[in-house]
Amino acid sequence: MNLYEDNWRRYRRVRALLLIIVISWIPIAMLVGTLSRWLLKTSIVGSIILPIGLLLFMIMAIRFQTFPCPLCGKWFSGTWWYNWSFLARKCVHCGLRKFSVE
Ligand SMILES: [Zn+2]
Repeated sequence: MNLYEDNWRRYRRVRALLLIIVISWIPIAMLVGTLSRWLLKTSIVGSIILPIGLLLFMIMAIRFQTFPCPLCGKWFSGTWWYNWSFLARKCVHCGLRKFSVE
């Protein structure tokens, strides 16, 4: 297995985790908040879950946006002043195509 495949597998994992957080963060916070209000008679738990989800989202978004290119090691999808994010089809620095293995 070559080095690029490992990097792209890591890229897909980061992207999947980010997508899972985006989709599930608000519903989980609402569910936990509702259950805690119903069972524990307090909204503190829901108030804690919401910023934790935001923090997780920020961490994963930064990891995704700054994912290093397997070839040149610079940010794959952008520079300090712009970022193509998930729309990047190739490295903005060296031109390596996304998911390329050679
Ligand atoms: Zn590159």
